[in-house]
Amino acid sequence: MNYLIDHETESIHRTTFAGDQCGFHNSSMDKREFTQSLSYVEKLLTEHHYKKCVFCGS
Ligand SMILES: [Zn+2]
Repeated sequence: MNYLIDHETESIHRTTFAGDQCGFHNSSMDKREFTQSLSYVEKLLTEHHYKKCVFCGS
């Protein structure tokens, strides 16, 4: 699974399901990060209180 992390809104998207409704296009390019690391995603969720996107979240 590929994830798109939006550091501006502190939200995490699944790239397969992400779309315009996710709103990350409004965030700066340099605030977006792609990763395949589930452990990194879970660390952000649990330690940094990032949120899974309601539109494409797992
Ligand atoms: Zn999303």
